[in-house]
Amino acid sequence: MPLQPYADDRAALEAGTTTCAALVEAFLREIQARNGTLNAFVRVDAEGARARAALLDDDLAAGRPLPPLGGMVVAVKDNICIEGQPVTCASRILDGFTSQYDATVIERLQAAGAIFIGHTNCDEFGMGSSNENSYYGPVQHPQHPDYVPGGSSGGSAAAVAAGLCHVALGSDTGGSVRQPAAFCGVVGLKPTYGRVSRSGLVAYASSFDCIGTLARSVADAAAVLQEIAGVDAADATSAPVAVPDYRAALGGSAEGLRIGVPQAFLGTGLDPAIRAMVEAQAERLRAAGATLVDVDLPHAQYGIATYYILATAEASSNLARYDGIRYGYRADLQPEAARAEASLLDRLYTQTRSEGFGDEVKRRILLGTYVLSAGYYEAYYARAQRVRTLIRRDFEAAFAQADLLLTPATPTPPFRQGTHTADPLAMYLNDLYTVTANLAGIPGLVVPLGAHPEPPHLPVGLQLLAAPFAEATLLRAGEVVMKPAPPPVQV
Ligand code: GLN
Repeated sequence: MPLQPYADDRAALEAGTTTCAALVEAFLREIQARNGTLNAFVRVDAEGARARAALLDDDLAAGRPLPPLGGMVVAVKDNICIEGQPVTCASRILDGFTSQYDATVIERLQAAGAIFIGHTNCDEFGMGSSNENSYYGPVQHPQHPDYVPGGSSGGSAAAVAAGLCHVALGSDTGGSVRQPAAFCGVVGLKPTYGRVSRSGLVAYASSFDCIGTLARSVADAAAVLQEIAGVDAADATSAPVAVPDYRAALGGSAEGLRIGVPQAFLGTGLDPAIRAMVEAQAERLRAAGATLVDVDLPHAQYGIATYYILATAEASSNLARYDGIRYGYRADLQPEAARAEASLLDRLYTQTRSEGFGDEVKRRILLGTYVLSAGYYEAYYARAQRVRTLIRRDFEAAFAQADLLLTPATPTPPFRQGTHTADPLAMYLNDLYTVTANLAGIPGLVVPLGAHPEPPHLPVGLQLLAAPFAEATLLRAGEVVMKPAPPPVQV
């Protein structure tokens, strides 16, 4: 039962054949059975989930209608605030910190009847592509103990894939919802920048960060987006753009869609089997009534370099607030340091940050500080900002020709734990196909394409990209891709 999409359990709730309490207990049992090895959850709020379920069941018993997401059991990445609960971004530096307020997405989901079941593991501050950079240790791939689930929202993706919740929230700064969705074989939606409020999402790179959803069906991802999308007074970058009816976009066909398959996303570094699977899917959509159009993204090749300059610059500034004074972890100074009063504050900052941040976070802070420093600012940061504009313009030109772009989600299938831990650049290259959407601020959807032909046959994902605020087009096409191929006609 836990592997059904929410929509199926919702029908059972409405028919009175199950209860919210029964759903919560089923998920808690799965978590109990599997989380010890998966390490997908860092905190489980069994009591809170049970209390919410009881309230919803009372409402149902009293004949009140089920709210839009009533009984949906949601896991939340450990960088999204829930009032009164710890949030750590899988970092020691936030040890002991408790959220003072609910993120806007949490408020909205709660108002829609969702039940939060716990916080999920991730790469520290969202920095990583394998979930190996967590203070809580790595997350296992649900289908193979030695492989990574992707990152940075690896716990969220693994929890959804393993049936430990209906859906999970993640954050996507350079691919952290879409890449783990691809690795775990689930749906991952990164909305347009500004479509969903960032209030209550702990900042990594503020001009890139987006809250997104991991789900077992496109319909579930659409249902969540419906509730969390829309302008918010608490986030000045949230867009005052009307929220369409995303459910109305579902159940359509590929008929009439203009689809571009950019060659820039099929070049060096791409696993040949993944390339063949993406091309086969493009052909399948063409046969179903879509038109394939030529698009060119001449600056996409600079995506990784541009992203890793700008995201680290923003991170170095955002992470300056963790000083051991205001919140979170504080180093225990040795008595001799405490006696040297003049240097006490410096010592406290240095020791707190040295002990509180992991290696990858330190690397990013150093890199980001370097590209912003006098003398290098023009050569790196300012130039990268200009390349970002060129990448955005490439997409504008592409979306004048095409409604959708079809690309691989990742250059390789899931890899073994430890493969890239000694080689940060190899790890960064995993984000080859995802970072451009964040640079341009456009929405992206990853849907599962099936198992990789080579052992251990782990999942491969397809990425769909669309123009700003065209999430409805993504959802419609994503559903078509996920529909099983019709059986061959018998004659
Ligand atoms: N893997 C990318 C990084 O490490 C993206 C992370 C993210 O989207 N949070 O920065």
